[in-house]
Amino acid sequence: MTDYTTFRGEVRAFLDEALTPDLRRAGLLTTSVFSDFGAALKWHKKLHRQGWVAPDWPEEFGGPGWDIQQRYIFQEECKLANAPSLVMMGIQMLGPMLMHYGTAAQKEFYLPRMLSGEHIWCQGYSEPGAGSDLAALKTTARREDDVYVVTGTKIWTSMAQHANQIFCLVRTDKDVKPQAGISFLLIDLDIPGITVTPIVSLDGKVEQCQVFFDEVRVPASHLVSKENDGWSVAKFLLEFERGGHNFTIDVKKQLKKIRHQAAITPWGTGHRGEDPVFQHRLAEAEIDAIALEQTELRIKGAVEAGGNPGALSSLVKVVGTELGQRLNELAIDVVGPAAGPMSLEALEPGYSGPMVVPEHALTTMAEYINNRASTIYGGTAEIQRTIIARKVLGL
Ligand SMILES: Cc1cc2nc3c(=O)[nH]c(=O)nc-3n(C[C@H](O)[C@H](O)[C@H](O)COP(=O)(O)OP(=O)(O)OC[C@H]3O[C@@H](n4cnc5c(N)ncnc54)[C@H](O)[C@@H]3O)c2cc1C
Repeated sequence: MTDYTTFRGEVRAFLDEALTPDLRRAGLLTTSVFSDFGAALKWHKKLHRQGWVAPDWPEEFGGPGWDIQQRYIFQEECKLANAPSLVMMGIQMLGPMLMHYGTAAQKEFYLPRMLSGEHIWCQGYSEPGAGSDLAALKTTARREDDVYVVTGTKIWTSMAQHANQIFCLVRTDKDVKPQAGISFLLIDLDIPGITVTPIVSLDGKVEQCQVFFDEVRVPASHLVSKENDGWSVAKFLLEFERGGHNFTIDVKKQLKKIRHQAAITPWGTGHRGEDPVFQHRLAEAEIDAIALEQTELRIKGAVEAGGNPGALSSLVKVVGTELGQRLNELAIDVVGPAAGPMSLEALEPGYSGPMVVPEHALTTMAEYINNRASTIYGGTAEIQRTIIARKVLGL
């Protein structure tokens, strides 16, 4: 029987030592799901040396062999200690899918490189005109002897500017129903014919790109599963994208930050934490956070018992992201005018120049703006509500 208190102590001891001030600063200044890339890669490599970079993977593929509770504790401690976030498309999404669908050669080649950080993956699903309606995708792959020739474009590809690999859904048959003509390809981003164009977001940062493919020749051995079986592979992978996140941990961190911001923001002769209107809004959010945590625990219980989270993961995605956005609004309200100016350079971990925005409000506006996207990516809130209506409520 695992002693979780001892385990938490071990994790804390490791984090105390391994999280150097520059890494903690990068974690503290994270305003989206991605931290500064250099810091994320450094942290990835440290976790790899410790054997902890892929907490969810089975031991036979290089995971630490933790149960679900240990994995939760690890994630929680990392978040609260301000560890940088890792680029997760490889380890969290592609890895578990390859363990299931990959050939022996694909597993042997790709999995160790994901663990070591040699391969950084991005996800090439969405296209202009194929987001919620993903099966409408048009990027084509034409088979010629032992290669697929890929032409088309992918958009909103997170971290493509740093990645060296992309997993893509491509159309291999136009004459069947849309879902039946899709295949799943693993593509090296360094091969000829690929252009990556950055997209500048509302917060002034680049986290997404558009990727163009012009007659790109991909070895046929990079096909996952069978030709035209890509829809099943894609859906299997999406379960790891949607089910792999613990929203409660993010929300707990946001709540901790807001309580601190309120405690140091003047209000009348006291501080904002004494404002009954603020206290009411905070209490409402805290109650919702408890309900969210209970639902996430139900999912964990189901998974531990060998089940599948199913449509419950749509429920926590909607509630978790919308609660996160409410807390962003509350944080803006608490810090007041200090949230106004957005100081992009001061959000760089190595910045040491003059500060326009006070430290306690430094990330508030950028977090608010960036997090508007959380109810879009990973399946929009409207689409999740339809899933809940159909599969949870039976409407
Ligand atoms: C920050 C960010 C990061 C992303 N990262 C990636 C990535 O790394 N890789 C990747 O492949 N994609 C990525 N995406 C793309 C993301 O998956 C899509 O944006 C998402 O699926 C929505 O598709 P869309 O943008 O085409 O919007 P649309 O599907 O055109 O939707 C527009 C609006 O219509 C609504 N709508 C659409 N269909 C329905 C319906 N049937 N019923 C009710 N309402 C509907 C939607 O909810 C939305 O409000 C990212 C997106 C963002 C914003």
